[in-house]
Amino acid sequence: MKGRSRRRFLQGALGALGGSAAAAGLPRFPGRGNLQEDEGRGVWQGLLDRLGLHPKADFSGGFVGQQVERGHLLRDYRGAPAPSERRRTSVAIVGGGIAGLAAARALQRAGIEDYQLFELEDEAGGNSRGGVVGGYACPWGAHYLPTPGPYAEDVAELLTEYRLRREVGGKAEYDEMQLCHSPQERLYIAGGWQDGLLPVRGQDAAAFVDYRRFAELVAAANRPRAFTIPTASSRWDETLAALDGQSFRQWLDAQQLGAPALRWYLDYCCRDDYGAGIDHVSAWAGLHYFASRHGFTAPGQDSASSNELDRDDLLTWPEGNAWLARRLAVPQRERTQTGALVLRVEEGRQQVELDVLDLPSRRLVHWTAQRVILAAPLFVAARLLANPSSALLEAARSLPHAPWLVANLHIDSPLIEHQGNAPLSWDNVLYGSPGLGYVDAMHQSTRPYADATVLTYYTALGNDPSAGRHALLERPWAQWCEMVLADLEQAHPDIRSKVRRIELMRYGHAMAIPAPGVRGSAWLAALREPRGRVAHAHSDLSAYSVFEEAYHWGLRAGDAAAVALHRG
Ligand SMILES: Cc1cc2nc3c(=O)[nH]c(=O)nc-3n(C[C@H](O)[C@H](O)[C@H](O)COP(=O)(O)OP(=O)(O)OC[C@H]3O[C@@H](n4cnc5c(N)ncnc54)[C@H](O)[C@@H]3O)c2cc1C
Repeated sequence: MKGRSRRRFLQGALGALGGSAAAAGLPRFPGRGNLQEDEGRGVWQGLLDRLGLHPKADFSGGFVGQQVERGHLLRDYRGAPAPSERRRTSVAIVGGGIAGLAAARALQRAGIEDYQLFELEDEAGGNSRGGVVGGYACPWGAHYLPTPGPYAEDVAELLTEYRLRREVGGKAEYDEMQLCHSPQERLYIAGGWQDGLLPVRGQDAAAFVDYRRFAELVAAANRPRAFTIPTASSRWDETLAALDGQSFRQWLDAQQLGAPALRWYLDYCCRDDYGAGIDHVSAWAGLHYFASRHGFTAPGQDSASSNELDRDDLLTWPEGNAWLARRLAVPQRERTQTGALVLRVEEGRQQVELDVLDLPSRRLVHWTAQRVILAAPLFVAARLLANPSSALLEAARSLPHAPWLVANLHIDSPLIEHQGNAPLSWDNVLYGSPGLGYVDAMHQSTRPYADATVLTYYTALGNDPSAGRHALLERPWAQWCEMVLADLEQAHPDIRSKVRRIELMRYGHAMAIPAPGVRGSAWLAALREPRGRVAHAHSDLSAYSVFEEAYHWGLRAGDAAAVALHRG
């Protein structure tokens, strides 16, 4: 209780400080890219120190990764100056996230050698990149991949190729070193840690009744091919459309599932997977989270009776899914151009024309291609295309994207553990927190003692995307650090004295939010169908973003382009 009121006070005080930052002549930090705030930190820190808000903290850091102004070049682009060079390729891939890399992989496998992948950042990987802080590898975004279910055959094949998976006696086995070790998850609630994320500690009987009822409802909803990953394998019917037409909260209200602990847990799960909470995602998405993977098991319930699949294992690495992205990128090196911003795509009868700005040299290159795979988000595709379809324009208007903040905190010695029954785990979540908790980058290490590490803290800002984006652009690094520390110190009172560096990754448009009506919309269905010489391939097509969905759309677009080229 004490920690909570202190956090409110801090946020109020910092909100007021942030609001008056310009008037007070405090430095503003435009999004310039890497480690831009080390030099400006002193003024802000000094002010906080004078107010006595966190006298012990002494750490460095800055913003990393996403070069905000590169994306904004596209937003502000008003027409092509004369290109300095002209080039040709058979297939141009726009965007080097998981979908773009998968498209390139499909082309290569089909024997197509003549393709080019354009990525605006300095490294391919998109939301699945990673960095190094204080000498420790850590994720900048995506950090795990569940072992593939029955419909994710392509992912299973990839993991087999990477020697993470093998079949023994008809059963899949995974590399023990990369499967998430125990303990996997813990929750800080009622002043202590409990094992697992579903609130149990301090809960009354009513919460357990709602847990059991929710488990039954998930099991009942989980009919064959209703909720699959990738979602393209599932069938769509009136029952699913009805779920898609309402928010998850409306559905929970209708089921009279009101236990605050269950509501908090479901809201947390939606913020964690979709970037926005139960008011903002559809009931289809809320149920898909559970039904497509491991179901929902109430405490004390036998998982067989809940119609649950085997509880899934997950694969994780210190650098998160950058481990996968980097392996996907290696065979594409020669055909990948990073620092390459595609500004315009115009489909003609015989070919497609592209304007590509080479950011390091500032040279505009005019490309022509037989086929183009747009592996960038749909709202970006709508800006790029000279003649966007009505479906694409509708997607740009109606598909919301959640902003996210990821903070990597280098901790120089183990944090003192609060009371409770659960030790430091891979995923560590705080009940009632505005954030999503943190993962420990050293979790998979086999060192026999606790020591320095990097904690990767996540916050999804999709409940109000435009306010979230504004805050990401405007709030200085020090203010975000303060919010992260104020949140974490409820569970880790010594964190300020042990943090040495904080690097922040900002995503203005991190992932599609499966808002009510989006998944079943006619415009999204239209965009999934390849037409003409330009095909879409991005996790946006699934209305939500995970590795498997991005990988599926990329492979599919690459395969289709290869077939079209072979046909001539
Ligand atoms: C913070 C965070 C945590 C996540 N955690 C997980 C997780 O643990 N597990 C999981 O499975 N998924 C996670 N995700 C979801 C993640 O988005 C997907 O796994 C996947 O990386 C999406 O890939 P994509 O190719 O669809 O999109 P993106 O990653 O968005 O890739 C699009 C690419 O296009 C490039 N681009 C855009 N415009 C242009 C242009 N005009 N010219 C050239 N290039 C352009 C971008 O720079 C980017 O590299 C997380 C996402 C975030 C943001």
